[in-house]
Amino acid sequence: MDKAAAPRITILYDNTIHAPGMRADWGFACLVGTGGRRVLFDMGANGALLRANADTLGVTLDGLDAVVLSHEHWDHTGGLDAALVDNRGVAVHLVADSPRKLTDRITERGGRAVPVTGAREIVPGLWTTGQVGGRIPEQALGLETAAGLVVVTGCSHPGIVEMVRAASAARQGALLLALGGFHMMDRDAAQVDAVIVALRELGLARVAPSHCTGDAAIAAFHEAWGEDCLALGAGRVLEF
Ligand SMILES: [Zn+2]
Ligand SMILES: [Zn+2]
Repeated sequence: MDKAAAPRITILYDNTIHAPGMRADWGFACLVGTGGRRVLFDMGANGALLRANADTLGVTLDGLDAVVLSHEHWDHTGGLDAALVDNRGVAVHLVADSPRKLTDRITERGGRAVPVTGAREIVPGLWTTGQVGGRIPEQALGLETAAGLVVVTGCSHPGIVEMVRAASAARQGALLLALGGFHMMDRDAAQVDAVIVALRELGLARVAPSHCTGDAAIAAFHEAWGEDCLALGAGRVLEF
């Protein structure tokens, strides 16, 4: 597969940094490329910082093929205005139960709001799990790679196990990696262990917990997966 077309994830916004010159902030955003298409997943809290980090990496946010919002929260949608500049008419996929004001903001900024209920393809080789329920409904991405499926999550408010399960239900095949926010700051050690067991049972080969996962849970993931637990951080680029 040629380099431009190979699946690749670039972390643009995270609570920690990976590459020099990047800035850390509470929130998450990444650019997913595959088959020559580019899809922005979440936008961080601050549009200026999102743009600055993209510039530092030499990544353009113009001419995106699609945008996907994991869920409504400000630390994933705050960069909306900056992200939609030079992306007029771009499809912004958001969970169907998102608040009306988020849909209105997308429309006001020239985006085309696309409500998501079930699993569906965003661009070839990249799809959404569909809306996963809970008090704060959310969607995750499934990226197809030669080595297996990569699941990309925002905050995982419905639970990381539920998000990975939804991805694996949408497409059969090996689960290579889950990355992003796992939202486990409020879980005790026994609950963290139960999540690790459940993810192992799903056959998840690698993990990259970040953003809202919480330090104690991240340490437990490192312990459980060893070298197969990756650190993310703004500026990290994963190629598959
Ligand atoms: Zn959230
Ligand atoms: Zn978050």
